[in-house]
Amino acid sequence: MIEVRDLVKRYGDTTAVDHLSFAVEPGRITGFLGPNGAGKSTTMRLILGLDRPSSGSALIDGLPYRDLRDPLRYVGALLEARAVHGGRSAFNHLLYLAQTQGVPKRRVSEVLELVGLSGVAKKRTKGFSLGMGQRLGIAAALLGDPKILILDEPVNGLDPEGVLWVRQLLKALAGEGRTIFVSSHLMNEMAVTADHLIVIGRGKLQADMPVGQFIAQFSDTAVLVRTPEAEALRAAAGERGWTVADTDLDGALIVTGSTAPEIGELAAARGLVLHELTPQRASLEEAYMELTRETGEFAHRPAPAWGGADGRA
Ligand code: ADP
Repeated sequence: MIEVRDLVKRYGDTTAVDHLSFAVEPGRITGFLGPNGAGKSTTMRLILGLDRPSSGSALIDGLPYRDLRDPLRYVGALLEARAVHGGRSAFNHLLYLAQTQGVPKRRVSEVLELVGLSGVAKKRTKGFSLGMGQRLGIAAALLGDPKILILDEPVNGLDPEGVLWVRQLLKALAGEGRTIFVSSHLMNEMAVTADHLIVIGRGKLQADMPVGQFIAQFSDTAVLVRTPEAEALRAAAGERGWTVADTDLDGALIVTGSTAPEIGELAAARGLVLHELTPQRASLEEAYMELTRETGEFAHRPAPAWGGADGRA
């Protein structure tokens, strides 16, 4: 288990990590989510003992990283996928790491197989694509067969096939009881990968809860409705306690607190004509943007008007 307690890291005037406390439990994927500049990488570096906290602590099974016996076999990390000597082959890169960690040579072939790089094991990494580089970085993190994995934005720049591959690998590793701590700035990716979410903005904790709870709590089910009988629909929806908002889309309404089937059935029961009934996508991403708004290094622009997410605005 990873435990972060009242962790603070300042760089001059910048507070990169601001009194952060959370725990990362084994046997599940914990997504570490926040906009660029939120403090994710800094927190991971502090956990790995690569940087000293200004105050607070980051412990791995009760110990600071530097006090772990055999840390590289205990914790595997991918922080900067490109930190590879380009002139070496994938095999030699991993062999070098294995030798410095006291890991047997046969493990190199095993992890190359696991990440799907056996076919290019003897090729120099200089010619590797971003995706191959990420796979090699993950192979390096897995070398010591660690029970804890810390991965910083492992799917950044990957094609959809690579993203899916990382997702499936992480799920399998968590299923073996390992602790998986993986960062991303993408809400939708984490929503389908992680079991648990820790969301930060400007170094501060914004949310720490199971993904299902996050989705239920922060995604509004919003439905776009067009009807020539707007006032009657507004009144009927109001009786049910649903919220109806006008949009700038020529008379369309946005109903929240309900679902498209419920609205359709209400309209039918009241004999109201509907011209359109469309559930709005991407409301989870918008909720996340809202939660972390103005907490990113480059504060988000306001979310687009309703409909913007599906290209209507
Ligand atoms: P994230 O990983 O969420 O994108 P980072 O942890 O990289 O965020 O950065 C958090 C903040 O700390 C940013 O404002 C960043 O500019 C600053 N920062 C990170 N590392 C350093 C450093 N070595 N020196 C100065 N500022 C830093």
